[in-house]
Amino acid sequence: MSQDIKRIYYCRAGHSSENFVYSNRLNLIHSGRCDLCTIENFIQEFKTWSSGNANSDKVIQESQINNIDNKLQWIPYDNFQNIKHIADGGRGSDWEYYLIGKKVEIKDSRYDIAEFLKGVTTVNNFNRSADYHGISKNPSTQNYITIMELFDDDFHMFLTKNFWNLRWVSNIFILLSIAEGLRILHQDNLVHCEYATYIDLDLYKLENDLILNANSKNIEIYGSIPYIPPEVLRGDEFTRTSEIYSFSGIMYEIATAQRPFADQAHDTYLMIDICNGVRPKASDFMLNWIPEWYLDLMYRCWSDDPSERPAAAELYNLFLEILEKLYDNIVDNNVMRQLKIADENQKNTSKSQKQELFSYSNKLHPQSCYSGRYIHTLRGLHDLLEEIKSGKSSDPNLLKQ
Ligand SMILES: [Zn+2]
Repeated sequence: MSQDIKRIYYCRAGHSSENFVYSNRLNLIHSGRCDLCTIENFIQEFKTWSSGNANSDKVIQESQINNIDNKLQWIPYDNFQNIKHIADGGRGSDWEYYLIGKKVEIKDSRYDIAEFLKGVTTVNNFNRSADYHGISKNPSTQNYITIMELFDDDFHMFLTKNFWNLRWVSNIFILLSIAEGLRILHQDNLVHCEYATYIDLDLYKLENDLILNANSKNIEIYGSIPYIPPEVLRGDEFTRTSEIYSFSGIMYEIATAQRPFADQAHDTYLMIDICNGVRPKASDFMLNWIPEWYLDLMYRCWSDDPSERPAAAELYNLFLEILEKLYDNIVDNNVMRQLKIADENQKNTSKSQKQELFSYSNKLHPQSCYSGRYIHTLRGLHDLLEEIKSGKSSDPNLLKQ
């Protein structure tokens, strides 16, 4: 008769692994970590920081006490330079564990920061690809900033460096992670404006707010021109369908290792082109390793008519289905066949083609701008436009920071 002996662990502070942390979870003491110590440390720290907003403080504090893993953290702005992405290599290939880096800045303090943080907590709890958030405040702009997983490199550098190692299984995985985030945001009625400048600054708004302000047409918008859909460039509000347009810019970058419109000035002329239906093209030499259905989907997301763009949930379901088949090596339809051929072609790419791509992806127009900035919409430019065209006035959108 052997007796079942259950080992009880104690941390240095004397907490037992038999204590409950939450009503349904025992204290985990492991490798110097103790859940109860972690919570006590957070509580001790409460008096050492403040977001400047009592309601926000409460949301952050509650997440630190009640959330098992996804604890929000207040990060003083001065610490920004010191934040490092924890790149967990883990098993298998590294790409699987790379998550998309995001810093989010809420541009306008009139948005209720506490409500926003509740939204963040919801996303955290449902989306494993967004499971870390720090909150900060830019002292000069007074804008709140949230930080999700951060790369040492930005996303573009990551793609450029890893382009030849990333097969379609990894590309689809990255897109699935982003689509999942979007799907959850859309469910919760949050629109993640300008998320395509997601490396730098993003902007969240409650869609309710957009609806309330439907009559106030935008004279200025915030973002990077290649990721802003034509209707928003014209002066309409940013909506969920606008976000799908921005997503397409990421699809383009993943397939080509080049950001959209990298070889052009990001000025008012480009905005007019985009409104007239011009979209980034994939160079002929790349078409061997980009599946045709992918290009079709990308251009559908870039559709001029917002109602023709797929919903985030549709993208999510599609990428999930494809990813599962890729994992299981199932080639049962045209989409999967195209992916297989694209992977093989990429594997067999000659050295000279790789060099061609490298020189191509390094081409960057001196007047391109991929960080977020304020841009005059075409509506805002209406009066200025004739003067700009005639050269009497310089383009206010040209590299205005
Ligand atoms: Zn302890």
